[in-house]
Amino acid sequence: MPKLPRPFWQVLLIVLGDNQSEKLTCEECTAMMEYLADRAIEGASIDDLKSTANSLFRFCTECKNHYQRHIIELERKVLLRGTP
Ligand SMILES: [Zn+2]
Repeated sequence: MPKLPRPFWQVLLIVLGDNQSEKLTCEECTAMMEYLADRAIEGASIDDLKSTANSLFRFCTECKNHYQRHIIELERKVLLRGTP
């Protein structure tokens, strides 16, 4: 039986929690990154986003390598925007 996709709130709970036995799929990593990007657009602090992203990267080294570059870029843009 194929595994059903988890609702996003469940993924969020796994990332924010400390249940080490759970695993995220790369699709769920991507969904989380999209969520973080939305939060960034809404004006969430980059430190908050980075700490959530770091929790996410515990689950998948592949996604860590893939997204870390994007986060650094995002951070630079947010910092540049920070000085009007
Ligand atoms: Zn992944």
